[in-house]
Amino acid sequence: MLFRTLAKAEFRKLVELLLAANEVVGPKRVGTNVRGEPLHQFLPVSAFDELALDYANTEFPPKTYFLPYREDLCSYRFGDDDWTQDIRYQVHPRVIVGMHACDINGLVKLDKVFTRDTFPSPYYLSRRKNTLIIGIDHLPGPKCFCRSVGADLVERGFDLFLSDLDTRYFVAIGSDRGFGLLQRVDAKAITDEDRADYLALRHRIADAFETHVDVQNLPSLLDIEFESKLWKKWGDKCLSCGACAMVCPTCYCYGVHERVSIDFRCGAKVKQLHSCNLLDFAMVAGNHNFRPTRESRLKYRYYHQHRGFVEAYDEPNCVGCNRCGHACLVGINPPDVIADLQAEERR
Ligand code: SF4
Ligand code: SF4
Repeated sequence: MLFRTLAKAEFRKLVELLLAANEVVGPKRVGTNVRGEPLHQFLPVSAFDELALDYANTEFPPKTYFLPYREDLCSYRFGDDDWTQDIRYQVHPRVIVGMHACDINGLVKLDKVFTRDTFPSPYYLSRRKNTLIIGIDHLPGPKCFCRSVGADLVERGFDLFLSDLDTRYFVAIGSDRGFGLLQRVDAKAITDEDRADYLALRHRIADAFETHVDVQNLPSLLDIEFESKLWKKWGDKCLSCGACAMVCPTCYCYGVHERVSIDFRCGAKVKQLHSCNLLDFAMVAGNHNFRPTRESRLKYRYYHQHRGFVEAYDEPNCVGCNRCGHACLVGINPPDVIADLQAEERR
């Protein structure tokens, strides 16, 4: 990978150049929570100063710009003797500034599902190809455990990735597009001092993690604990609200339904994100539900993230952002659930 440094004024200039020709999305402060802490969301910005690059985390992941909550896959209209359909894959170029490593790693996992399997999604692919990503390092929050699942560092999936060295950014170049962007501003070759400052920052970030989750042998532990009573304990708390999947940067389950006009002349096929915790997720014809209990649905969410995905792609589907734990009204979160299973095994 190539590296450069960029003075902060040059980075502002770069974002302003991008703003002049593209839609730019970034972390914006949108309010405060009940404890008075700032809330942030990835939203379109029209000026550099709207970006809150020092945000801790956003309520929703930037995944929504690649996998929207709801989208029309195609629309159709019947005429008297014929019918037409409209399918749109094209999207306008977009830049996302300020994605953290965990969210970029979340996209890399979605890439495996939506760009490489037997049926790649043209909708996802077009958004991915038309979106330029500028990531940024940050100190982890107290509940963040991305380091435990290997998602605190990025090697791919971005164009530029910035690490804040106070007076300047240390910039990793992740693509030809990123390299081309840096030609438009005064990026400098890195010096020994830059390298030393960057390594010191990496140590500071690594030392700042307060939450650690032992995921070694987790898939086999999940096999062993498939019938554990702990699933009922956690399942009995679950409200089946689906919030955990909605805020997760890697959950991608969806349903497709038809929206038809009252005169049956036109309609659309609509894709909508789903959650395996919702009551009807495993409902099939005849009103049969393969996962009728809250514990069975909660369990399968954990099995998909930490076992099924490992079997398919050799890595967990969780990037350790703890958004699900933060969104859950009853306090269900991966570090506590996994620690409970590990304690059960030791007992
Ligand atoms: S911590 Fe929760 S929200 Fe974040 S990636 Fe893992 S399962 Fe998804
Ligand atoms: S685990 Fe929490 S957020 Fe997820 S469905 Fe259950 S109650 Fe809702």
